[in-house]
Amino acid sequence: MVSGKDCIRDLFLGTFYLQHRTQDYCGIAFNDNKALECYTHKGLLRQQFPKEALREMEGVMGIGSVSSERQPVSELSKSGAIILAFDGNIINYPELKDQLLREGASFSGYKSPEEVSDTALISKLVARETDFVSGIKKLAGMMKGDFAIVALTREGVYTARGWGRKPLVLGQKEGSYAVSSESNSFVNTGFEITRDVEPGEIVFLSREGIKILDRLDLKPIKYGTFEWIYTSHPASVIDRKNVAEVRMEIGRLLAEKYPVNADLVSPVPNSGRWHALGYAKASGIPYTEVFIRYDYSDRSYTPQEQTTRDEEARTKLITIKQIINGKRIILVDDSIVRGTQTLNKVERLKQLGAKEVHAMIACPPLMAACKYGKSTKKDEDCIARRMPFEQIRDKLKLESLNYATIEILEKAIGYPREILCLDCWAT
Ligand code: SF4
Repeated sequence: MVSGKDCIRDLFLGTFYLQHRTQDYCGIAFNDNKALECYTHKGLLRQQFPKEALREMEGVMGIGSVSSERQPVSELSKSGAIILAFDGNIINYPELKDQLLREGASFSGYKSPEEVSDTALISKLVARETDFVSGIKKLAGMMKGDFAIVALTREGVYTARGWGRKPLVLGQKEGSYAVSSESNSFVNTGFEITRDVEPGEIVFLSREGIKILDRLDLKPIKYGTFEWIYTSHPASVIDRKNVAEVRMEIGRLLAEKYPVNADLVSPVPNSGRWHALGYAKASGIPYTEVFIRYDYSDRSYTPQEQTTRDEEARTKLITIKQIINGKRIILVDDSIVRGTQTLNKVERLKQLGAKEVHAMIACPPLMAACKYGKSTKKDEDCIARRMPFEQIRDKLKLESLNYATIEILEKAIGYPREILCLDCWAT
């Protein structure tokens, strides 16, 4: 964000409204007109940057990050100090690091090679080049994976988007300019969406406005399909498509393709909510939430262990027996990975007297962990890799199980499959 006046509060809020994306680390860097400052913490942004801490900060430009690794990262570049934050994943990280070392890069500031995060590696790479544009060109030529990057310098904020899987959107209000992973950052801060940073674009934000510095010809362009299904906030507009509307359309198309006689349609909160609304509206079956999310069970970080995550998921949801007993329920969820959480929910519904449970899943069977983000999943975790459809349905104790198809995703999102990343579903 760049502004003509102090923008720390907007910067904090804009970053805070991305907290749903990741919960492990948070950071804020800003230019206080004298120097660049950078603070990073483990945990949630709102807890780590309380009001008292924010009052001590003042800056006319800055960047914020919520991430699975500690960032933003500071480097001294050929053109001065640079502080960089990154969303994405470097698939060929070891090769890239070796190449940088061969080319004379030094990671002497790190206690062990493992400490060099993707963000640190990218910062190093960008800082070695004559300017940000050359750094991004070099990165795009060397890396496998995908990226969205913001970088703070004394002059302004640079931003760059890779092949498209990681969204970036520009916004503005009264002499202030912003870039964010999601337009959800703008809703309560008074910013209006200017436009998306297109795949391959390198853009500079300064007090003079938004300037395109270069357009790299990165191919193939692939938008991150899961952003609409699960990752992004419903209020966000990702590559010109509002997330809530896309989810409702997926629900509507599921209802059209898979009609089921039932008494109620319920989401698995929160990410199944808009899909379920679409299904309920199209089918005429009442929308009723059988699971209530208990707001106070949120933790300050995402547990790494799967068993702990499952336990957390169980603790988070409270059931309403009076609504469930004797009902035929359509349960709508964004996806099924291992199936353990779905099984747990179905068992709970049946214990509380549900007559039937039918599952509608807002994407095709997951076959692979995402290579383009910091996923804790492995390919082998995907239940759809291990057993046929009928077996999954029976194992999960469901009366019926239906998945959205690639055609449904194409229709609901409004982009053809050629420019959608479908690697989650590729075998
Ligand atoms: S593999 Fe899946 S989660 Fe990863 S970028 Fe592609 S669509 Fe998104």
